[in-house]
Amino acid sequence: MGNFDNSVNAYKEAVDLMPGGVNSPVRAFKSVGMSPIFMEQGKGSKITDIDQNEYIDYVLSWGPLILGHADERVVSKLKETTEKGTSFGAPTIIENKLAQLVIDRVPSIEMVRMVNSGTEATMSALRIARGYTGRDKILKFEGNYHGHGDSLLIKAGSGVATLGLPDSPGVPESIAQNTITVPYNDVESVRYAFETYGDEIAAVIVEPVSGNMGVVPPQENFLQDLRRVTEENGSLLIFDEVMTGFRVGYNCAQGYFGVTPDLTCLGKVIGGGLPVGAYGGKREIMESVAPAGSIYQAGTLSGNPLAMTAGYETLSALDQSSYDEINKKVDKLIEGYKQAAIDYKIPLQINRAGSMVGFFFTYEPVFNFETAQNSNLDYFAQYYRSMIDEGIFLPPSQFEGLFLSTAHTDDDINKTLKAVRNAFSKIEK
Ligand code: PMP
Repeated sequence: MGNFDNSVNAYKEAVDLMPGGVNSPVRAFKSVGMSPIFMEQGKGSKITDIDQNEYIDYVLSWGPLILGHADERVVSKLKETTEKGTSFGAPTIIENKLAQLVIDRVPSIEMVRMVNSGTEATMSALRIARGYTGRDKILKFEGNYHGHGDSLLIKAGSGVATLGLPDSPGVPESIAQNTITVPYNDVESVRYAFETYGDEIAAVIVEPVSGNMGVVPPQENFLQDLRRVTEENGSLLIFDEVMTGFRVGYNCAQGYFGVTPDLTCLGKVIGGGLPVGAYGGKREIMESVAPAGSIYQAGTLSGNPLAMTAGYETLSALDQSSYDEINKKVDKLIEGYKQAAIDYKIPLQINRAGSMVGFFFTYEPVFNFETAQNSNLDYFAQYYRSMIDEGIFLPPSQFEGLFLSTAHTDDDINKTLKAVRNAFSKIEK
């Protein structure tokens, strides 16, 4: 790998301009002891930085780019749409088209509202749950990340976990006390919370596959049990599918696991790389949202034509076989990692759901936030830097998963596995 002079200089400029030099914390590469790499362009599975180093990309803008970078179908429609004007603040036909596609594909969604980010989707879903049930408390899981809304930034994963931050200053105690947190995959703690607070809990919000403490799938019956407990107690079940939606499978995680929540939050893939989020669910609940109902939620750029176009073109390009193909590549990647770990005596746990994959440097199974902490972060940082040197771009945090796209080739996987073997062989123990 070449030099990073331009990135280093750009970062020097950026730290004076933006907090930590970035517009979102994990981009600062802090936990791997590197300076951030500034990107210039991407095509398919490859990206190029401003020093002209090329990488095979497993970050894919943190999940959205399931077709890879600058997919022709998406780019050409975006050009067409741009020529016609970028925003009207009045309804457009493309909003109907994307809404219909989402309703057709997501089992729980009978009506949907578009917003601009995953954070907005989860914040809005909570308001709807509270307004609809007339209750205030929310139950969430440790290490799940649902964006940076006040009620949800408690024992959160993602960047908060990466930076080792305790719960964020600025979240008022009066709000935090309405959020109950319990360990992921621990339905007994959920039952206990309901015994204690039963009729005060508006909703349980969960990542059906957690992707923000590394990848941690639900254990058998966890999601089914959550469905049962919430029903028994008159609470809503919210699946935060911002990461899993249209990623884990054609019908999202809820189709994959066969559990239908009351409300679903979407983001990432639904915007095909442009800023989109959405929430939806049962008609009866969604009709309580303004202007059909009285619970308020709005957005100047919500349903923006460019964002809707990128989302519509991306989802239209996917069918069941796209997922089968990506999954085959993931199988091959995982096999290679497993063999490299055996050959070089590296402790490694591999967690996976569809094309969300997480590697933890530990011999112990990882099934919640506490067990995710067993991962050897020093091994991770060594492995990470070696992979960058070999031209493989991974999420710069142990507590994030990596993603594949339809654009990744067998050759990409072979190169990646060669780099993995090299990285594992050099890890200083
Ligand atoms: N929910 C989940 C499950 C996420 O992974 C994320 C972002 N990684 C969010 C919500 C927040 O989405 P955004 O960053 O678009 O606000």
